Amino acid sequence: MLAALQTELDQRKADGLLRQRRLLDSPQAEYIVANDKKFLSFCSNDYLGLANHPALIAAMQQAAGDSGVGSGASNLITGHHRYHDELEKKLAKFVNMPAALLFSTGYMANIGVISALMGRNDAVFADKLNHACLNEGAYLSRAEFHRFAHNDVTALEKLLKASTAKYKLIAADAVFSMDGDIAPIPKYLALCEQYDAYLYIDDAHGFGVLGEHGKGSLSYYNLKSPRIIYMATLGKAAGVAGAFVAGEQVVIDYLIQKANSYVYSTPAPPALSATLSVSVSLIEQGDNLRVHLRHLIATLKQNLKLKKWQLMPSITAVQPLVIGRNQAALALSEYLQKLGILVPAIRPPTVPVNTARLRISLSAAHSEQDVIKLAQALNEAEKVMK
Ligand SMILES: *Cc1c(COP(=O)(O)O)cnc(C)c1O
Repeated sequence: MLAALQTELDQRKADGLLRQRRLLDSPQAEYIVANDKKFLSFCSNDYLGLANHPALIAAMQQAAGDSGVGSGASNLITGHHRYHDELEKKLAKFVNMPAALLFSTGYMANIGVISALMGRNDAVFADKLNHACLNEGAYLSRAEFHRFAHNDVTALEKLLKASTAKYKLIAADAVFSMDGDIAPIPKYLALCEQYDAYLYIDDAHGFGVLGEHGKGSLSYYNLKSPRIIYMATLGKAAGVAGAFVAGEQVVIDYLIQKANSYVYSTPAPPALSATLSVSVSLIEQGDNLRVHLRHLIATLKQNLKLKKWQLMPSITAVQPLVIGRNQAALALSEYLQKLGILVPAIRPPTVPVNTARLRISLSAAHSEQDVIKLAQALNEAEKVMK
């Protein structure tokens, strides 16, 4: 087996697909130190620049002082601390849902919730570009699993119409992590009404960024329904770590009993929840951050003068530049690195074959000058790289 593993790794390398970790020696910020060099970074999902915020650092230090550093036991034994409880209530109120439940990561939330709610006689309908962990939740559930073409409401309706499943769940990223575009959630909800289905929305990249005061994609579309189960992560715009699921009280009560990644896992430290409560307040009060972020997105679009490479149609902080071939995307990423700019090249299987891209992610921590510098470097790169 070990020899086979090595062969597969060698093949990945030959295909330009071997992924390597960078060693970070700084907080996530406008400038980071990676592999001992300083870079202007367009790599993080820290869309509001909260990952290194002084108020959050102080909150974590203080909460560690009074609650310690470890949760010590699973939620259903003695691990559920008042800080967790306060954060759940605060998040539910913030996203205008009856109740919320914390998970240690978004990945655990998705696999835990979908596998708990869906079973053998049920069906999950998933956008083809959904995050991998939504698919894994569906596999674990043993429900029928249908995938529809990206954002294709007509294809989805056909599948729903033909389905004889007992319970049906449509699952979609609200903002697609590698494309930056927004799912047609109101149309999905209308289909749920028509075909008696439920809607699972993964708002990892919308929470904190979209909607009134950053309340996320449901606020952006002004949607509310008992058919919606909402998930958002807390390690992206919220700047810390973790995730939560929000929905009807009965859904949350059921998940506390049945979501295995909740029941059989030690919760994140209480100090993280105390920190996140402050983060939610910063998000709510952060309209200026979102105005600045939107200005940066517009600045990037205005300053890019490209002929071959295409920015995808995104209004969010995720601005992918499609290059095509794996090696070409890697070469461009390396070209920028030599100029002290870090933008990750994203390759298959994360994105479809021949759509290798630079995933430019903007943050309120960037200045206008940072974005202009990136745009000029890309304009120049297109001229010199053949
Ligand atoms: C990042 C991400 C997740 C996983 O969340 P983590 O908290 O990082 O585990 C789930 N869904 C989407 C769409 C994501 O982008």
